[in-house]
Amino acid sequence: MLKLSLDKIGGLFAEMARDRTLYLPVKQGGQADFVKWTPEAEVCLDYLNTARSIKDFFLPQTENIAAFKREGKKISITPTHEEPAPFVVFGARACDVRSLDVLDRVFLSDPVDTFYKAQRENGVIISMACAEPEETCFCNIFGIDAAEPKGDVATWLVGTSLYWEANTPVGKALTSTLKAVLSEAESLDEKKAETRKNAARAAFDDLPLAKLSLNGWGGDNLLEKFSSPLWEKMSQSCLGCGTCTYVCPTCQCYDIQDFDTGHGIRRFRCWDSCMYSDFTLMAHGNPRKSQLERFRQRFMHKLVYYPANNDGMYSCVGCGRCVAKCPISMNIAKVIKALGGNANA
Ligand code: SF4
Ligand code: SF4
Repeated sequence: MLKLSLDKIGGLFAEMARDRTLYLPVKQGGQADFVKWTPEAEVCLDYLNTARSIKDFFLPQTENIAAFKREGKKISITPTHEEPAPFVVFGARACDVRSLDVLDRVFLSDPVDTFYKAQRENGVIISMACAEPEETCFCNIFGIDAAEPKGDVATWLVGTSLYWEANTPVGKALTSTLKAVLSEAESLDEKKAETRKNAARAAFDDLPLAKLSLNGWGGDNLLEKFSSPLWEKMSQSCLGCGTCTYVCPTCQCYDIQDFDTGHGIRRFRCWDSCMYSDFTLMAHGNPRKSQLERFRQRFMHKLVYYPANNDGMYSCVGCGRCVAKCPISMNIAKVIKALGGNANA
């Protein structure tokens, strides 16, 4: 384990930003979000959760992918996707790091999504352990240890020190470029970090959603869950606004849209939402006509279809963003509880 005194953290950021773009949580507009680091940025390492997740770096909300131009009977196609460049994301929480495992199974499976793959190959993830989780957190029910986050490098903020541990070859390569600012931790430091981890784990026990049970969920019981009469009641107040899908680190639906600039066509890939009434709208109509069907699809995908096809892995990481942001206070925690086999939360 390595360490750094917090009063020198500006030097660490400057070193990391020397030949790659560094993104980290910065306070703006009353909330924290990942933005590009500058020496003037108001970095907030004690934030609880960023409004947007790290998904944005690998599957951006909008990607300009091609331009088409017609001259007479000839159509020219020009790729317009930005060339990937090396970057570092510092301060990712354990839930967001796990969300990349979910996205990898979708975008790195055959046929591989080359845009996503290029971003994954160019990005280094430096995670930060949670010290005090939010009331809306429930990552623990998905087997995520917020005190021991994964990522290429894991870090812990303890007192006036930052502890640093490289986990992957990419993380070790980055660490080797930072020798001037990081020093070896001592056994007392290791003990302090361990105490902090245990305190963070204990804090989870008191969270309102920490005892939510996943019993009855997963890839089995598909028909039983799909046919539940409870979907109607739960979906009645859903506005179909899509907020839950836009803040979710694991939601991955997108649309390809063409835009006529008047001088040719631009093709974009942009996020879409299964909660929208025009989602997957085809010439014959929408396969999911009611909000009940759309609402059910989102939760069945995260809690039944995805685990059925991915060795039991759920496509929710319990980050709690949808719990915090839904305008009518409907969310996946309520669905887990209402339709679960053993709802004891
Ligand atoms: S569940 Fe909430 S956030 Fe999601 S679409 Fe419905 S109203 Fe919007
Ligand atoms: S469904 Fe909600 S809690 Fe689960 S990963 Fe998405 S935003 Fe986070």
